[in-house]
Amino acid sequence: MSYITFKNIWKSYDKDPVLKGIDLEVEEGELLTLLGPSGCGKSTLLRCLAGLEHVQQGRILLEGRDITDLDARQRQIGMVFQQYSLFPNMTVAQNMAFGLKIQRLGKAEINDRVREALAMVGLQDKADAYPAQLSGGQQQRVALARAIVTRPKVLLLDEPLSAIDAKLRKNLQSEIRRIQKQLNITTIFVTHDQDEAMVMSDRICLLNGGKIEQMDTPIAIYTHPRTKFAAGFIGSYNVLEPLEFGRVTGDIDLPAQPIAIRPEVLNIAREKQGLPGTYDIQGTVIDSTPRGNVLRYKVEVNGVQLAADTLFRSFSIYENGSKVWLSLEKRNCLQVEEAV
Ligand code: ADP
Ligand code: MG
Repeated sequence: MSYITFKNIWKSYDKDPVLKGIDLEVEEGELLTLLGPSGCGKSTLLRCLAGLEHVQQGRILLEGRDITDLDARQRQIGMVFQQYSLFPNMTVAQNMAFGLKIQRLGKAEINDRVREALAMVGLQDKADAYPAQLSGGQQQRVALARAIVTRPKVLLLDEPLSAIDAKLRKNLQSEIRRIQKQLNITTIFVTHDQDEAMVMSDRICLLNGGKIEQMDTPIAIYTHPRTKFAAGFIGSYNVLEPLEFGRVTGDIDLPAQPIAIRPEVLNIAREKQGLPGTYDIQGTVIDSTPRGNVLRYKVEVNGVQLAADTLFRSFSIYENGSKVWLSLEKRNCLQVEEAV
């Protein structure tokens, strides 16, 4: 039995549905990421689970128990939002004790738990600080500590790192993951950033327009996107319609479905490679963009533009206008569905 079950969830705010029949199961102890573009319904789904929104149709189960009509407070769910939502007029320790006082725990127990949770996020020495005296990253750590100090059954994290700068964000990603594993707490993490989703998750649920496009492990979703949308959103695949595929490869045997090709499987070279089981594609470099240790070329082939990635080595850079050959293994051409 799964730990959390969403059964055919429909939700609309005014007329158009925002969630369109979501069926989703989350296993105990896993970190599941809801990934998708802004407005696809990620926060709405979390808020329905937390009891902050009512669903029009469908049921939500936690440990097999139907919680659809339960009050938010009775659900034992901890949540962290993108904005640092700490009470500004309370110290860190007071912020964290707040939920425990509502639970009517004794003073000694509250102190112990607050100290333990603060240690877990590495902020033992900030117990008496006010939120305004902390950096954004520290405030989010406190928000996380405040969520786990109540020992919730489920932890919901709604883009908790979106407002945090890139370097610190990487640290916090691994910190969240470490704490989540240490506590073995079932967690749903929301992000619109595919790299973050890849790093953090046991499984990724890709949402688009209120529907699930694909649900898989990070590796499976990256290597085997099911739809055009998944291919474009996760691996920045080149997605070619059957006719375009024919124009690019010269293959007269057109595929039935669109074809997705990852930029890093297009090997770029001056000369034709002529390897078995591959297409040799001649084209012209029209652009190149450095992306960290990778250089992404845009290559035009019979009116179709392809992205091709190479490791960024200064001795093999092709100028715009260069005639090049792309070598593409046939097994790296994936058929994808038009939509779900
Ligand atoms: P995401 O978190 O994926 O960016 P949301 O779940 O916040 O998306 O929103 C999904 C859609 O629902 C959006 O079109 C948004 O404008 C709409 N929406 C969200 N909250 C409300 C609300 N309280 N009232 C009306 N529309 C809303
Ligand atoms: Mg959101």
